[in-house]
Amino acid sequence: MNVIFIAPPAAGKGTQAEMLEKEYNMYHLSTGDLLREIASSKTELGKNVKELIDNGKLIDDELMLKLLKEKISSLKVNGIIFDGFPRTIHQAEMLDELLENMNQKIDSVIYLEVDKEVALKRATGRVTCSNCGSIYNIYFDNIKDNKCNNCGNELSKRMDDTEEKFNTRFDTYLNNTKPVIDYYQNNGLLNTVSSMGDKLEIFNNIKSIIEGK
Ligand SMILES: [Zn+2]
Repeated sequence: MNVIFIAPPAAGKGTQAEMLEKEYNMYHLSTGDLLREIASSKTELGKNVKELIDNGKLIDDELMLKLLKEKISSLKVNGIIFDGFPRTIHQAEMLDELLENMNQKIDSVIYLEVDKEVALKRATGRVTCSNCGSIYNIYFDNIKDNKCNNCGNELSKRMDDTEEKFNTRFDTYLNNTKPVIDYYQNNGLLNTVSSMGDKLEIFNNIKSIIEGK
């Protein structure tokens, strides 16, 4: 059982992938993590990959496919959750071919849909308590006078995402991913799941799609 996750920033993909991984003994294959893992190894290939990443170069499709093939062959799991790949139609076709050669296939594509405004609030509204480690969202949690509900300490904002930066990241993602979404729509594998509810509710929706296959 192999699944592709497509999700815009702040759609809650990480949480869902983790829950899925545990529920079905799958492997969450994030290509970003895979590249970092290979780059940190002392092999010749690791050095090459590290150099490409450090120089901000893209990993070409052929190399990426080779890395994916090695990783997939080494896994002993019930299935793979692909995250961050494929990003283009060409990559999608390459992945289909790779899996076919291994007598496998993509069973479902989950598109986690999120309202841009909600995603923006999720990404920019995070505040943390430096005293007890509690995390809140100024838009979704009930906080008084910017004080931690748990210990009363002053809360501070994580400044990793400004509104403008987030909007650009979000729009770029959707524009780049549209052709891939259409590709899976056309071959009947695409399932759109709203990521607007509670995380268990979202997870149950994903489960029913996977188990319906
Ligand atoms: Zn606190």
